[in-house]
Amino acid sequence: MERNGVVAVIGAGTMGSGIAQVLAHKGYPVVLNDVSPDALDRAAQTIQKSLERLVKKGNLGQDQVPQILERISRTTKLEVVRDAQLVIEAVIEEAPVKKELFERLDELTPPKTILASNTSSISITEIAAATKRPDQVIGMHFMNPVPIMKLIEIIRGLATSDETYAEIEGLARDLDKTPVSVNDYPGFVSNRVLMPMINEAVYCVMEGVSSVEDIDIVMKLGMNHPMGPLTLADFIGLDVCLDILNVLHDGLGDPKYRPCPLLVKMVKSGRLGRKTRIGFYDYSE
Ligand code: NAD
Repeated sequence: MERNGVVAVIGAGTMGSGIAQVLAHKGYPVVLNDVSPDALDRAAQTIQKSLERLVKKGNLGQDQVPQILERISRTTKLEVVRDAQLVIEAVIEEAPVKKELFERLDELTPPKTILASNTSSISITEIAAATKRPDQVIGMHFMNPVPIMKLIEIIRGLATSDETYAEIEGLARDLDKTPVSVNDYPGFVSNRVLMPMINEAVYCVMEGVSSVEDIDIVMKLGMNHPMGPLTLADFIGLDVCLDILNVLHDGLGDPKYRPCPLLVKMVKSGRLGRKTRIGFYDYSE
């Protein structure tokens, strides 16, 4: 990737704003696109606050903040991708939305442009099939919060070329991240390993094996996890956990991925974790 070449980030939510920030921090000119002008305004505030936190911690000079912010332009017009060397998509996790978007990106971008998706669970091969350049489509799965978390899972679709992989691996290193190569199977590695653990913790609650607090303590103090699985599930969102378990269950067909009935019940009742102020824990205070 050229440091002076434009990177377009599509979707200015939690992940898109973080991705735009780390790219601009490293000197890449970024165009941040969203269908919602409000989302673009919120992203600008989020990025500003995040940079200020880095300054307070001594990880960034105050004088660098305006330069980083100037590198990010915001727009609702998708046509800006015409100048992009790379597009990173971070819109809502819905396959039809992503596929339609990739079809448009394929029409709008120059033939050399690489198209990456930050999807957590949708098949890269399926997204790539919506384009006429499946060899230049790849998964770039950042972790939340993007400016802090070091890992990027780089997912090769069935047709992803070695050249595309090498470009994205190089970019990941340039962003001071640690890339890991993953083939395109449901849940990739991160969610394939994490979600069954969370699901099993929910089964332990349902069967009364132990209390919510104690299950988290076992995994924190016994296994040295920084956060217990039920606290983590509340943080991720129980609806998101359920969606990913369904992707694993449907995609791999193995009953071991069956979502726990208690998880299903909690999602149906609207207890989604931190975002609704109640999940396995109460956040109303
Ligand atoms: P979010 O809901 O915070 O943001 C999504 C944004 O996409 C919204 O601002 C919405 O207006 C915008 N959008 C929807 N359709 C669009 C379109 N057609 N064109 C442009 N913008 C559009 O979601 P998020 O949490 O940032 O997740 C984005 C992607 O990243 C998803 O694929 C998700 O699976 C993945 N992901 C999320 C996390 C996480 O912890 N939140 C972690 C890793 C990967």
